[in-house]
Amino acid sequence: MTDDARLPGATHLECTATGERHESEQLIGLSPAGKPLFARYDLSAIAKWFTPDRVATRRADLWRYEEVLPVRDRGCQVSLGEGWTPLTDAPRTADRLGIRRVLIKNESLNPTGSFKDRGLCLAVSRALELGAKELALPSAGNAGSAAAAYGAAAGLPVHVVVPKDTPEPILQEMMALGADVQLLDGLITDCGRVVKQGVAEKGWWDLSTLKEPYRVEGKKTMGYELFEQLGRRLPDAIIYPTGGGTGLIGMWKAFDEMEELGWIGSERPKMFTVQAAGCAPMVKAWEEGKESAEMWEGAATYASGLRVPAAVGDFLILRALRESNGGAVAVPDHVMKAWVEHLGADTGIFAAPEGGATVAAVPQLMHRGLLSEDDEVVLFNTGSGLKYVGNTPVD
Ligand SMILES: *Cc1c(COP(=O)(O)O)cnc(C)c1O
Repeated sequence: MTDDARLPGATHLECTATGERHESEQLIGLSPAGKPLFARYDLSAIAKWFTPDRVATRRADLWRYEEVLPVRDRGCQVSLGEGWTPLTDAPRTADRLGIRRVLIKNESLNPTGSFKDRGLCLAVSRALELGAKELALPSAGNAGSAAAAYGAAAGLPVHVVVPKDTPEPILQEMMALGADVQLLDGLITDCGRVVKQGVAEKGWWDLSTLKEPYRVEGKKTMGYELFEQLGRRLPDAIIYPTGGGTGLIGMWKAFDEMEELGWIGSERPKMFTVQAAGCAPMVKAWEEGKESAEMWEGAATYASGLRVPAAVGDFLILRALRESNGGAVAVPDHVMKAWVEHLGADTGIFAAPEGGATVAAVPQLMHRGLLSEDDEVVLFNTGSGLKYVGNTPVD
């Protein structure tokens, strides 16, 4: 089966709010209800050959999970070596934090230096397979670089609309990768409006996160990797720097798939969201016990990946936090930066501010009794510190 040129792909797409089914082999963004769509697979059939033993011998990138990814034609698997990033033990960080074990999922080693590559790899591969001609997205920065890279690899033009104060290394990167870059005096939500106009007037295909079904499929591979890299089990807790929440939502989906595949039982890690004190809509909604979040006014943080005042998948993030017995905390920029430096000196990993935020969250979570000193915790360093050189904390 897996030696054939064609893969099973998804059986259909499902609306995350209403459960309504849609045909998967068409270019489709949000569901008619205006909510994200999830790709569904025939997991009981796939489970017969898609086993941890088979996967263990495969290529060292995210395409090792191709049966649970939506691309059907192997010729459309656009690849630059994304995924299968190291899960690095950080014993000195664990000592500093007073917790049993800390592991860093080091996403800075992706092709454009952030985990956005996973999502855009899948979204661009599917756009290519389904016949999109021009791609576009609003970005806080790293998604734009990733889209530019995969668009270039696929031979498709990419339009990126970003806030004008996006870190300079990221801007230079997307331009060098051939993207048409438009700078806007505003936030990612304002950039989204410009993209929407291009979609309506010029026929661009919108790659906004969770507004097409496949970025989340790319990011869910982080959940499969954790299972394999931990010796076929999951950690006690995961701390995830949350903007649009695609990776957290994706991993939560992966765990359900892995249970259906018979890889794991009903156990789940506690899922924790960390946001910047200057832009914390999920933390606010979590603390108020809400099921969706309000738009955050005046968003400000140097962790550009966290400068996301509103997320279309807010209800999915909050649901995963609730179902996993997790939570949400906010940290100021200067505390993120201090932890970037501690982490660097303790591990040799130059983390993005978002990665620093995950370390900064640990003392708060322990203080509140949400993490215990016996826990084994995975922290997501979602990007490289090099992409933020020249940017400084705003508080
Ligand atoms: C985009 C981004 C985030 C937030 O990721 P989501 O999945 O959108 O929540 C975190 N860190 C970095 C470095 C990012 O680029």
